[in-house]
Amino acid sequence: MDVLIAGAGPTGLMLAYELALAGVDVTILERLDTRIEQTKGGALQARTAEVLDLRGLLGPIQARELPREAVGGHFAGLPVPLDASPWNTRHPYPISVPQWIVEEELERAAAARGVQVRRGVEVSAVSQDSDGVTVTAGGEVLRARYLVACDGAHSTVRKLLDVPFPGRAGTFRAVLTDVRLSSVSDEVPTTMGHFSTMTTQAGEYWGMLVPVGDGKYRFTFGRPGVTTADETRAALTALYGEETTLAEVLNSSEFGDATRQLESYRYGRILFAGDAAHIHPPFGGQGLNLGVQDAFNLGWKLAAAMRGTADLLDTYQVERHPVAARVLRHTAAQRVFALPGPSEDVVELREIFTDLMRLPDTNRYLAGMMSGLDAADRIPDFEVVTGDGPVWLSTLLHSGRGRLLDFGDRTWPDGWADRVDVLHVKPDGEHDALLIRPDGLLCWSGGADVTTALTTWFGVRAG
Ligand SMILES: Cc1cc2nc3c(=O)[nH]c(=O)nc-3n(C[C@H](O)[C@H](O)[C@H](O)COP(=O)(O)OP(=O)(O)OC[C@H]3O[C@@H](n4cnc5c(N)ncnc54)[C@H](O)[C@@H]3O)c2cc1C
Repeated sequence: MDVLIAGAGPTGLMLAYELALAGVDVTILERLDTRIEQTKGGALQARTAEVLDLRGLLGPIQARELPREAVGGHFAGLPVPLDASPWNTRHPYPISVPQWIVEEELERAAAARGVQVRRGVEVSAVSQDSDGVTVTAGGEVLRARYLVACDGAHSTVRKLLDVPFPGRAGTFRAVLTDVRLSSVSDEVPTTMGHFSTMTTQAGEYWGMLVPVGDGKYRFTFGRPGVTTADETRAALTALYGEETTLAEVLNSSEFGDATRQLESYRYGRILFAGDAAHIHPPFGGQGLNLGVQDAFNLGWKLAAAMRGTADLLDTYQVERHPVAARVLRHTAAQRVFALPGPSEDVVELREIFTDLMRLPDTNRYLAGMMSGLDAADRIPDFEVVTGDGPVWLSTLLHSGRGRLLDFGDRTWPDGWADRVDVLHVKPDGEHDALLIRPDGLLCWSGGADVTTALTTWFGVRAG
């Protein structure tokens, strides 16, 4: 076995897809017997949509998108939509899709590439030596060259390794539940709109009901301190009136606002990704997105390590740790504005910040930050004209290999053909040549010798 992944959440599934695409032998070990169809994460941010597009994985997910008003994302629930269009994206609005659907589609795609998801198998012991890792799961002892812990916020692997998870403890516990309602008042939303129009507050409760298809609703609610699922009915009545009555609780879990991040994402042959590596309050729908993008960054690098062509694993930490650190900072900042019962000072500050958000530059900055579209070296998708006609650039990355796009007719150094595909496309008057990593990021665009960039990102010349 090449790689074992602990956890079949969105992070583990995305990583498994990437590894299998690169020909790596990968198995996921998942504690749960079956997937819980819990909405949990409810939206894909624009950059995640782009990343999924780079593999042709977005289509099947988007086909199951829930109706949503064409309106941008939010910062701290403040009533000014974020406009992502200045970032030149094909996905200017968050895509409303329950997390379990994202997982289901990723698992389908991964399975089609030969990934085995072993369910009902809990990782319970881990050790490593210079050749690989030994993992005990479901009473079985397994051996692989690497283990990636994608086992969520309460990561068993993190605890087994006894590595520090520094940060701040949470200040509240709230409830996330999927419910069916037997009757609804006029206040219950019929479709997803801007976040600021979806949240409500009454008495000591705050909450949000979101229709998630098939007559179901995602109900998120809390009050100061610790809220439990036993309060679902009381919170529903307080927030949406007596006419809104509960028919059935389909599932429920608790969440909080703890903020923590691993200092290192790598301990020898064991790596961490997604919630196992970082946790933060769920303001602005960032967690699933961060995890999928961690996996996308790590997959091709781990595959290169398996093949022995390039040693890029340390760049995973360098590139992804600051991204999550920034999310931890801005979700902490959002908490100041978003938590109910703000002080008079915070109310004043909210007003001023809301006005600032109407300024195009501020709005653009926040939109880039919240959607992930301000990612370093991102290339907005655009059409290129090949010998077969126009295609979206993203489709040229479906293979998961590097891509050298020449807007001309030059000859390029040989020796990387096993890792990088060269394509000559029609000059567009704007680009010269682009060297694109398997994760869609630009690593060279003319200027200095391309050989240096090829060697840095794809390893030494073959032959
Ligand atoms: C209220 C709320 C709303 C949210 N909304 C959004 C949103 O709109 N957008 C967004 O991007 N994110 C959102 N999130 C965050 C998102 O749900 C998480 O960040 C995401 O699930 C992280 O994915 P993951 O794969 O890293 O971990 P998880 O989804 O937690 O998956 C971990 C998997 O590992 C398995 N596992 C655990 N221990 C073991 C073990 N010992 N052995 C084997 N398997 C194990 C678990 O069963 C699980 O399947 C929200 C979260 C909450 C609470």
